[in-house]
Amino acid sequence: MNFSAVFNSLRQSLLRAESRLLQAAGLDRQLAPALAVTGPSLLPPQSSDQTPGLLDSILWMAAPKKRRTIEVNRTRRRSDSKLLKLQNNIEPCPECGHLKQKHVLCGFCYAKVCKETSLIREEIKRMEGGPLRAPAVETVVVYEGETERQEDKDKRIVERARKRPTWFNL
Ligand SMILES: [Zn+2]
Repeated sequence: MNFSAVFNSLRQSLLRAESRLLQAAGLDRQLAPALAVTGPSLLPPQSSDQTPGLLDSILWMAAPKKRRTIEVNRTRRRSDSKLLKLQNNIEPCPECGHLKQKHVLCGFCYAKVCKETSLIREEIKRMEGGPLRAPAVETVVVYEGETERQEDKDKRIVERARKRPTWFNL
């Protein structure tokens, strides 16, 4: 009789004694574990001459052999390659003063122009009244207080009910 058989029989007798005690106390309920794992069904079948041991139902995962010290971990975590790089390519936008990357469009100014352009598109949509009705001529945007130029006579004029923004040029 090996160790696991002794352990199993001990466990069985303890469980039996526990259930008898519960019956005597009037608490005859089925006490099931909160999480049941069917380990042996995942594993390949073993030779049936041995009684299943306690450790047979556990799936063994890969685990490190030695604990790494906190110094080693901190040296790895704070190594030069993991630190943030110093950025030298940041400058204020000459138009609005927000910080931006050099040689890159300022995101703030770009969003402003996008918004104004979408408002112009909405105005054009309202003028056309539906899809596939765009005229075959160019379009010129005229802001409040402006008059169309001589060379824009035969172009489509889109009027905006506001002053021309300083950053929105022809
Ligand atoms: Zn800007």
